[in-house]
Amino acid sequence: MIIIFIGIQGSGKGTQAKLLADKLKIPGISTGDVLRSVEGKLKEKVDNVMNRGELLSADLVMELLKERISNKDCKNGFILDGFPRDLEQAEKFDANLDADFIIELEISDKEVFRRLEGRRLCPKCGRGYNVVTSPKPKKDNLCDIDGAELVRRADDTEDSIKKRIEIYHEETEPILKRYKDKIIKINGEQKIENIFEDILEKLRIK
Ligand code: AMP
Repeated sequence: MIIIFIGIQGSGKGTQAKLLADKLKIPGISTGDVLRSVEGKLKEKVDNVMNRGELLSADLVMELLKERISNKDCKNGFILDGFPRDLEQAEKFDANLDADFIIELEISDKEVFRRLEGRRLCPKCGRGYNVVTSPKPKKDNLCDIDGAELVRRADDTEDSIKKRIEIYHEETEPILKRYKDKIIKINGEQKIENIFEDILEKLRIK
């Protein structure tokens, strides 16, 4: 089973991909997380591109993704969050693999800003929070699990958010036309649990 989540930054695709991955017991793979964990010589270049809110090359992302999905844990399938991001990546993906479902989470640009303003991350365990929406940390700005002080993601600056919104409309949205017969549209401006319920219902998962 291969499932792809498409949605603008802050649409909740990471959150929903994780919930669905747990439910289906297959890995959820975020290309953003894969890129953030790059080490060695490539790291500086990757970090710079990401902090500007721009896209890394399709070849690099595809190479890292192929490596990740060749792991044993992907043998029954996987969920992709953040890939493909443009038509070139969609073509590369389709040349090798076939998605069973493509889920589009729809939210407005205004809502993107509101959510990304509140997005926080635990630098220790990587758990995500949102001080504007949810999940809010139980104690102000501290991780519920390890008490570490929460931080903003390095690319959640105003300029980078604007850039990523622009790239989504110009480069990612054309993918929606390519997959129009397969796309399942979900209203992303609901509570996390209601979005998840809609996804399970549309995918006929109990
Ligand atoms: P995300 O964690 O999905 O919000 O992605 C954060 C950043 O990682 C993006 O703004 C891009 O710089 C980079 N990135 C993530 N996925 C891709 C991809 N499929 N292709 C190119 N760059 C990506």
